[in-house]
Amino acid sequence: MGVPTLACQCAVCTSADPHDRRLRPSILLRWTESDGGAVRSNERIVVIDTGPDFREQALREHLTHVDAVFYTHGHADHVLGMDDLRPLSFIAAKQGGPIPLYTDPEAAATLERIFSYTFSPQATYVNRARVQMVPLSAHNRVHGVDFVRVPLLHGEQSIAGYRFGNAAYLTDVSAIPEESFSLLAGVEVLVISALRHMPHPSHSTVEQSLEWSRRIGARQTWFTHISHDLGHEETNRALPAGVRLAHDGLTVPVTL
Ligand SMILES: [Zn+2]
Ligand SMILES: [Zn+2]
Repeated sequence: MGVPTLACQCAVCTSADPHDRRLRPSILLRWTESDGGAVRSNERIVVIDTGPDFREQALREHLTHVDAVFYTHGHADHVLGMDDLRPLSFIAAKQGGPIPLYTDPEAAATLERIFSYTFSPQATYVNRARVQMVPLSAHNRVHGVDFVRVPLLHGEQSIAGYRFGNAAYLTDVSAIPEESFSLLAGVEVLVISALRHMPHPSHSTVEQSLEWSRRIGARQTWFTHISHDLGHEETNRALPAGVRLAHDGLTVPVTL
């Protein structure tokens, strides 16, 4: 819902701490791809999820291009900003082609329904986003980096988490299937959702995510997709070493 949550007057929603202002969850991966010793090296950018706040986040990060987008699932808080890829997609199209959107069939169907004026074969809107759906595989290689799909459960729904290098991004998870733990072996930097303390049918609690973090053995764990039940400072004081609430604009080095 974002924090402050509309119409809410709770201590977190009215907090003066900038860390208590939370846009909808998304991450950006930025790396430099060397082109084999030639003069130029290329900055590569992959975004995971484009929620309703994507435009504001892209402005904050001075985003001038996107090489690919990965989607976790088709819920509004993860997909509604797709259309704001348009100006970036015009740049991509000029430089070689549409922006690939790596998506499970279910999320692809949702995107195609919401943005039918972009995806329908009958679409005639000339300024539609230059994007192209790419079916998500177990391994997805983007400019030399392997994005591994990590199957997760979000309530009844099967959704995608991602492993890349020594890091993983697992949002909107309520259960991790046993087989997925082997895909997470060796993860040192874990970004995982932790909605609140009170149980929720389709999101893990802080306690559950802490347990998974311990099992995975991450050196560093960042909680994301945090509701207004969790104040930044107060919650962080109670978390064990190596585990913290993430905040908007946080930058974390990872090894790809
Ligand atoms: Zn969701
Ligand atoms: Zn969500």
